[in-house]
Amino acid sequence: MKNPLKGIKGIKVIADENLARHTSFHIGGRATHFVYVYTKRALRIVLARIHLLKMRYFLIGAGTNLLVADRGFEGVVLKLGGVFKRVSHRGCLFRCGGGVLIKDFLDVAISACCAGAEFMAGIPGTLGGAVKGNAGAFGYSVSDLLKNVIVMDRNGTESLRTNGEIGFAYRHSEIRDGDIIITIYLKLKEERRSKILARVKANLASRQEKHPTEYSAGSFFKNPPGRAAGELIEHCGLKGLSVGGAQVSEKHANYLINRGQACANDILALAGKVKKIVRAKTGIRLEEEVIILK
Ligand SMILES: Cc1cc2nc3c(=O)[nH]c(=O)nc-3n(C[C@H](O)[C@H](O)[C@H](O)COP(=O)(O)OP(=O)(O)OC[C@H]3O[C@@H](n4cnc5c(N)ncnc54)[C@H](O)[C@@H]3O)c2cc1C
Repeated sequence: MKNPLKGIKGIKVIADENLARHTSFHIGGRATHFVYVYTKRALRIVLARIHLLKMRYFLIGAGTNLLVADRGFEGVVLKLGGVFKRVSHRGCLFRCGGGVLIKDFLDVAISACCAGAEFMAGIPGTLGGAVKGNAGAFGYSVSDLLKNVIVMDRNGTESLRTNGEIGFAYRHSEIRDGDIIITIYLKLKEERRSKILARVKANLASRQEKHPTEYSAGSFFKNPPGRAAGELIEHCGLKGLSVGGAQVSEKHANYLINRGQACANDILALAGKVKKIVRAKTGIRLEEEVIILK
């Protein structure tokens, strides 16, 4: 297979990469080209080449809110590495690359005695993915901490957006598909480390008690206004419902799990069944929180 990104410095290209290796569902077909991008300059050049060749592209974070179709993705899947994994801070103002794992950011915040991000403990994705979907837990979300982001658009142009310009809502932002969040500024507040650690521990313990450990993408559906999707699904008697290797978790009904051998079509068929039954029994239309890459 010809490498359309040949000669570009600051990247690593893998042809015909298995995307199941890059998602928490452990599901998905192959990407024609999988590209690690290590510098801003390289990202700009890659986007220009993609544009020139009229190829499709998709930016993957940690793949923890993602279901990749069985037939995979014909095009370029980009993944941020190198400079995009840096965290720095002055006091409790943090500057993070879009590819930084939430866990790595949280470790630095705890060491610096900066509080406010404890709700994110246990969310397995990157900060870029968390901003795009306004990830949250325990009543807080990323939008509560975020000051600004720098976004690179498909033309390689960078722009700074303030919190108010991002259009945050529940598990939603107005960051357009194709735009890449390269830098994230977060404002935390100083507090004693022991207090921060106690909250992190409590949140992790609560997750361990309530959340399944099988392969999944976390909550599959968004909570409808005033309701918890998991409770609705459970009340409809759907815990344990399965299609092929996919199953509604017995532990948390909003988790669709891969019991080991599920394909994307199993998960999609199961999600379709859940939506249909919940709609018929309650009149409520569930909406996917998980991104589906076709
Ligand atoms: C066990 C488990 C528990 C979870 N718990 C929670 C939870 O409590 N709360 C919660 O909100 N979520 C939860 N999730 C879902 C997921 O971890 C979060 O949504 C996370 O923020 C997604 O980040 P990611 O890097 O994995 O994004 P991906 O899944 O890789 O991508 C998701 C979307 O974000 C986009 N994206 C990723 N990075 C960037 C970037 N730099 N710039 C622009 N777009 C980008 C992708 O293109 C895609 O559209 C959980 C998932 C699992 C598996």
